[in-house]
Amino acid sequence: MRGVAHISFEGGGLIVPVQTPYERQLFFEHIDLSAKRHGSVRLKINRRHWTVSLHNGDHEACASCPRSLDALTYRLNGQTYCGQCARRALH
Ligand SMILES: [Zn+2]
Repeated sequence: MRGVAHISFEGGGLIVPVQTPYERQLFFEHIDLSAKRHGSVRLKINRRHWTVSLHNGDHEACASCPRSLDALTYRLNGQTYCGQCARRALH
């Protein structure tokens, strides 16, 4: 299904719309809160599966830009991305 994201975490999950910039903003706030509460969350968006986790503190760089990773890391196909790159990729 296009235009929606499935968020799953331990004990539940939800489906949120991600078509407008405002909806995507809310979506990322959901992820942020859920990952902090549950340690990690899984996302399915445009048939891609992401895992969002709290950063373990290692100095690891993003797979697609020189930034070091933020408090939350986004994993897709074995690569780890910072929040900014993930936001771009999730569009
Ligand atoms: Zn990046």
